[in-house]
This record gives sequence, C-alpha cells and structure tokens, in this order.
Amino acid sequence: MNHMIDTKLFRRPVFVVRAIAAMMLATLLVGQAAAQSLIRDTEIEESLREFGDPLIRAAGLNPKSVDIYIVNDPTLNAFVTRGQKVFFHTGILVEFDSPNQLKGVMAHEVGHIASGHLARSSDTQRSAYGTFLVAAGIGLAAILAGEGQAGAAILGSSQQFAVLDVLRYSRINESSADQAGANYLEISGQSGKGLIEFFEKFRYQEVMSEQGRFPYFRSHPLSSARIDALREVVDESPYTETPDSPEDIHRMKIMQAKLRGFIDPPQTTFVNFPETDESEYGRLARSVAHFRAANLPQALISVDSLITEFPQNPYYHELRGEILYKSGKAKQAQPSLRKAIELKPNAPLLKQALAQSLIDEQMPEGISESVTLLKSVLQAEPENGYSWYLLSQAYGHQKKKGLAQYASAEQHYARGDLRTAQSFAGRAMQILPRDTPQYRRANDIVVVSEAQLAQNRRR
Ligand SMILES: [Zn+2]
Repeated sequence: MNHMIDTKLFRRPVFVVRAIAAMMLATLLVGQAAAQSLIRDTEIEESLREFGDPLIRAAGLNPKSVDIYIVNDPTLNAFVTRGQKVFFHTGILVEFDSPNQLKGVMAHEVGHIASGHLARSSDTQRSAYGTFLVAAGIGLAAILAGEGQAGAAILGSSQQFAVLDVLRYSRINESSADQAGANYLEISGQSGKGLIEFFEKFRYQEVMSEQGRFPYFRSHPLSSARIDALREVVDESPYTETPDSPEDIHRMKIMQAKLRGFIDPPQTTFVNFPETDESEYGRLARSVAHFRAANLPQALISVDSLITEFPQNPYYHELRGEILYKSGKAKQAQPSLRKAIELKPNAPLLKQALAQSLIDEQMPEGISESVTLLKSVLQAEPENGYSWYLLSQAYGHQKKKGLAQYASAEQHYARGDLRTAQSFAGRAMQILPRDTPQYRRANDIVVVSEAQLAQNRRR
C-alpha cells in the first residue's frame, strides 16, 4: 500500500479535490477529525471501483463522475457528499463479511446520490454548510488532499461542528435509498441480501442512545420496519440467492488483509494472522505488520514469498518497493517499483512512488526521470497535490526556480490554500518566460484565486 497515509511513519499528502463544494457528514468531523486522512492505494481503489461501478451505472450515473474515497478512520461509517463523492471509512471496510455486504452499502449510498437527498436537504442544513465551507474550507480541502494533520488542526478550531450535526437522513430518505439500492443490485444481477445481513449484524444499534451508536447508524437510522421493507423487495429479486464470485471474495479479502496490516497494531495482526496461516492474506498482512514493527528482514521474507508465488501481481512488487523505501532504502526500492510499473503501466500512484524514491537520491538522471514520471501522474490526476509538491522539489534540484515556484502554486491551489497559491504563482510569473504554458497557468491561478478570495470575503 504505497499510499497509506500513516502519519507516524510517513506523511504523504496526496489527492486533492479542487472544488470545496462538498459537504461532509457531521459525524465525519465531530470529535474524530484528528484521526483522519485519506488513503490512496491503487489496488484497493480498483477493487472498490470494481464493486461500485456496476451499481453506479445501474443508477443511471456515470462512474467517471462519481469519486470513491477511503478515509483512514477506525469508526464504522460510509457517506456521500455533494459532488457525487462516496466515502468509506477503513473501519467499515474491514467489517464487511462478504463483498455482497459492501456492495449493499455502496448501493444504498449511491441511492442517496441518485435520489438527490443531498440537494434537497433542508434550509437549516444548507446554511450550516455554507457557514461551514467559509469557516473551514481550507481544512476540508486539506483533508481531501490527504493532509490529515493540517486539516484536523484547522477544523478543530472551527466553531461550526455543532451546527453541522443537523445532517441526518430522514427515515423516509433511508427507506428510499434502501429501495433504490436494492433496485441497482437487481439491475446488475446481484443479491440484495448482503445489505440486510449488514443491517441485521448491527440491528442492536437501534436500541442504543444516539451517542452510543456507530456514526453510520447515527446518520442512517436503522429500524425494524426499514429492514422488513427492504427484505420484501430483496426476496422478490430473481438474484436473491446469487452468490458472490470467487474473484470478488478474493479481492475483498486482499483488501481487508492489507488494511488490517496497515491499520491494526502489529501485535494484533500477528494474533489475527498467525504464522500458521500460510494463505496469501496471512502473508500479506504479516509482511506489512513486520515492516511496521521495524522488522525489515521478516517483512521481506513474507513479501518475497508472495512475489515468488504471484510474480505477475504488480501490487506485491509495489509493496516490496514501499517497504524498502519507507525503511530508508530508496535505491533498493527502485527495481521493485519499476517492476510494478512494468506490470501496471497506467497507475499514477506507482509512478509517483518511483518518482519520490528517485528524488530522494538526488542524482541528476534520476531527477529528470522523476520530472517525466510526475508530469505523467499529473496528466492523469491534475489535482494530485502531493505530486505537485514532488515536482516542485525535482525542479528545485534542477535549479529551475520559476518552474519550482509554479509547481508549488499548483500544490497549494489544489489543497485550497488560495493565498499561498497566489503568492507562489506571482513569484513564478516574475521568473518564467511569458510565452510558456506554465506562465499562463500561473497567471490563471492568480486571477482565479483573487476572484474566489473576494467572493469569500463578500460572504
Ligand atoms: Zn442512508
């Protein structure tokens, strides 16, 4: 998991959503902000798309316009925000007993998007979001940019949390999202039983006090009537008994083993995945846990056994590279990262990882290769703030000061820090030749930031 953001080991601000026109559930922000950052991992993102895209299509939406994010937070939660963004906490991802349960929750959340429940939220809620966005806009963008700590600090000082707590789906919205979700599952030829199972598993939450509940069941209130109504539709579907495919089960177990390895304390992982567990999942979780316990030799033994058995799997090469890189061995990480890219040429995050290890070495050839790699990452993910940051470093090593300032401007713009973006862009414009695309883009950043800042002041 090259892109797990583990603030203790490795701080990797990554992905950025330029538009801050997102609202987040109160539960995301109240009292938990400190733990949060986004996780980027090519393999897990691919799995979630694999699970989610058929449901998104069944809802009549374009999968390309629906973003799926993974929040590094141990609490049980999943939610959607404006701008068609679906968020899963790691705490819910490791809780699913089957892919069908995950798909059930995904279908339900997509149901909220497709039914326009966010757009139709009450005036009280809308004005609360408005106030919130002004007060904490940078904090939110920073969290979306993966800069969890910075974001949490800003958000923590905001007075808006209490107001935000009003966001909660009504029982009517919940039932209609259930029905819509069940429909998407049926259209895509899948069972709706997983969603019922998931609700049954947490049915006891219904009788608990509001504060005692998991965030997911605070914003999505459970009730027996709701489960019964869902069961009626699901029972009538011709796909009720359709089982999960072995491929999907495998994908989910890999995802959970990897998350467990990165999130749980290593000792917990060694209990949950003891040495006697020689499965792929066991070895994967243990290799990560050994690495996190600073036992590099043992981590490499586990990951190497996976590579020997699955030499064509890019993610084991990626993991090997990540383990070496984060253990301070940038040069030794590179062959593994190169192999991962060879097996999976179009994955931006793999290129970003190689670029980072090249920059660390500070060799001229490596630096110029990293510039090429990062340009390619940014073509695929223009709002990837971390790659802009790396690019500014690479240009710095090349003594290309104007380009370095420009890349810093993009980095700060991506994370929503308009003032800093403007200042870097202004400095870049004093150095860059006028007829370059970077000069024009720096100029755009100055102009657009000025307009946005003025608009914020008027509010
Ligand atoms: Zn709901």
